[in-house]
Amino acid sequence: MGHLSTSERVCSKTPIPGDASPPPLLARRAKLANGDAQQQVRRGEDSSPELPPRGKLSLPQKEDTAKKVVPQSIVNHVPKDQINLEEYKRTFIGDNVLGWQFEAPLKWDKVIQISLLHIVAVGVLLTYPLHRLNWYSVFWAFFVGGVAGFGVTAGAHRFWTHRSYKANGILRTLLMISYCVAGQNTLYDWVRDHRVHHKYSETDADPHNANRGFFFSHVGWLMMLKHPEVLRRGRQIDMSDILEDPVVQFHQKYFYVLKVIFCFLLPTIVPVYLFGESWSLAFAQQCLFRYVSSLNFTWSVNSAAHLWGSRPYDKRIMPSENIFVSVIAMGEGWHNYHHVFPWDYKAAELGNYKVNFTTMVLDGFHKLGWAWNMKQPSKELVRRILEKYGDGSHVSQGLDSGKDYAAIGASQMVGNVHYAEVPDPELEYDAESSSTESAKLDENENEGERMKKSKKMICT
Ligand SMILES: [Zn+2]
Ligand SMILES: [Zn+2]
Repeated sequence: MGHLSTSERVCSKTPIPGDASPPPLLARRAKLANGDAQQQVRRGEDSSPELPPRGKLSLPQKEDTAKKVVPQSIVNHVPKDQINLEEYKRTFIGDNVLGWQFEAPLKWDKVIQISLLHIVAVGVLLTYPLHRLNWYSVFWAFFVGGVAGFGVTAGAHRFWTHRSYKANGILRTLLMISYCVAGQNTLYDWVRDHRVHHKYSETDADPHNANRGFFFSHVGWLMMLKHPEVLRRGRQIDMSDILEDPVVQFHQKYFYVLKVIFCFLLPTIVPVYLFGESWSLAFAQQCLFRYVSSLNFTWSVNSAAHLWGSRPYDKRIMPSENIFVSVIAMGEGWHNYHHVFPWDYKAAELGNYKVNFTTMVLDGFHKLGWAWNMKQPSKELVRRILEKYGDGSHVSQGLDSGKDYAAIGASQMVGNVHYAEVPDPELEYDAESSSTESAKLDENENEGERMKKSKKMICT
């Protein structure tokens, strides 16, 4: 989501996917978000000879963590919180590799790990002995992939990041274990990255800023140091709910053990002992094909769903409705809607369970009584927003439909169910006034600027 005042957003043009140079408005947004210091770093004006060597950036700095009591187990795993930002900014100079100038210093360990993983996975796939294909193993791979996807979409995303529903202890534990199956970052890092992403979409403070192109928003951002603005804004994100959650604390404490067991060991052992699969093929299926696919499916939400698709709810932002991403990411591709109404547990307004598998499972847990308070915006609010800001591609605005919004009814709501709406009053207001959470925040930040202007007007 963007974070400009409404008047600035109205003037914006839809950016062209793949266009390397950000549109003027977005460039202005980036500048607003960053200030001049970052621009200087880009120009290399700050590259003084006294710079400490790279790799010795982080010195403990307590100012941001001192406000709340942070469990030691989490602090130990979040060294980014202790980085001296001023020093970090000074040394944030892009690497030049064989004439390719990168915007940030590369994390060579990640470059090698991620590249190798993909190269080996593709190589093994191309030479896979198809005559030894075991359909039980194939089914198992899809099942494990589904569990991993559910952990990311229903757990890390819809539950922990957006708090779009409430869950009992059993479901929270299941979500955490499912998330471990995906083999991604710690929950703490995931949630903070995603909250920053929503607040500062498509600016330098967005960890996977889609204005930096498909590759960067897909995977490149994991291979280079985070922009200083990501760290600075990340420290301002309220993570108190995450820090206090015992399930997250447990995950943080045993992160590596849980990842190895649930992402690699168990999924590989099961087909060997239950379906008579060979160790090497079971390893290839789970630790290469399933793992690599699952990572790319998640990443496609940050890349493809920010670059390609329609924008029926808010044409001023980049996140888009992308059915392809919705299918592979279990319902997370309805991204234009999601950025406008991030607290909706369905992460979509329309569609069905086929393109929103996560919602189907969550509805099941709701029936069981393990999930409740499933938040959704009021239909009236959705209608008002899409009529005001949408690009006209909503099904209720189709040329041949002749339907008005009310006529769509329950039939096209996700899963054909529509629980009692549980709007969040504060966010409802936000969506109505600006259609983003961050707009409000930045409008507050720019308050000083406006005050100055209005004073000037009074004086003249
Ligand atoms: Zn997004
Ligand atoms: Zn989100």
